[in-house]
Amino acid sequence: MAIRSVSDSIAFYESVFGKGRISANGINFDVRCPICAPSDPSKKKLSIRTDTSANHCWVCGFKSRSIAPLIRKYGTQSQLSAFKDLFGLNDQASQLVTGEREDERRAVLPPDFQLLTVAPVSDPDVKAAWRYLVGRGLTEKDAWYFKFGLSNEPRWKRRILMPSFDASGNLNYFTARAIDKDRKPKYDNPDVDKNPVVFNDINLVWTKQVVLVEGPFDLVKCPENTTALLGSDLDERHEIFNKILINNTPVALALDGDMWETKTPKIAKKLQEYDVDVKLVDVRPWGDPGNMSRFEFEKALSESIRPTWEDAFAHRLKKAASFNLRF
Ligand SMILES: [Zn+2]
Repeated sequence: MAIRSVSDSIAFYESVFGKGRISANGINFDVRCPICAPSDPSKKKLSIRTDTSANHCWVCGFKSRSIAPLIRKYGTQSQLSAFKDLFGLNDQASQLVTGEREDERRAVLPPDFQLLTVAPVSDPDVKAAWRYLVGRGLTEKDAWYFKFGLSNEPRWKRRILMPSFDASGNLNYFTARAIDKDRKPKYDNPDVDKNPVVFNDINLVWTKQVVLVEGPFDLVKCPENTTALLGSDLDERHEIFNKILINNTPVALALDGDMWETKTPKIAKKLQEYDVDVKLVDVRPWGDPGNMSRFEFEKALSESIRPTWEDAFAHRLKKAASFNLRF
């Protein structure tokens, strides 16, 4: 990233939001919020960090990991490019969010982490892990590619650990899938904030369409350029969301089938609010991408469609009407 001083940040913020003032703590720069747009210009309630551009409005409550969303809505394309030059790929700094602890912990693999591909198959846990993966239609090549591993620590034992790396190649997260049917929870994750994490960032090209799935084990069935939301939420507080806005990335949403009428339209609408090109991948016949073959997923992805909200509304009306008819 470009070397940027506090005065560079301030000059940039003022070019977008008008005159502001540095806050008492010397970290935040306060400007007029373009969302609640107070008529009194001296009211500067949008507080922006000079180091990361994480921001928060004390009046309307808007909160974002970077100011990219506000530039997309209220600024120009050239301001967005300038933002990218100033604040672009800044994985460490982008972890900080206004109002959250600044010493956010990063995920660390257990010290005895061992790659499955080099673990001794005489070990019953290793054998069970392979059985589990083969049962899910995965191969040794997948195990190498995704760097699946095992640990003997009680919390992670008999779980397949799947690490994730940021754009600079540093570990930024891992997930641990239980290989035994009745183990709860099915997925266990390190105790760190998920919002700054872009799962599989090392393999992502942000200038091309990025596919969004819910869980890391959905990702293994998808083609390149897929990341996992590590849940089913996505908004301005998430690093993935901000990266999409900064890079003008087209998105294919492939959430689990049961989200088709809930979280899927919610996220799609949120992205469309910022003019992001969104397509929906219908995986309902399979439940989730993890249950599909690569071929089936490729096909569903090629048949993905841009949402038409009128249809969804009409569908709801029809459902409501048929419901009423029964009485
Ligand atoms: Zn506001």
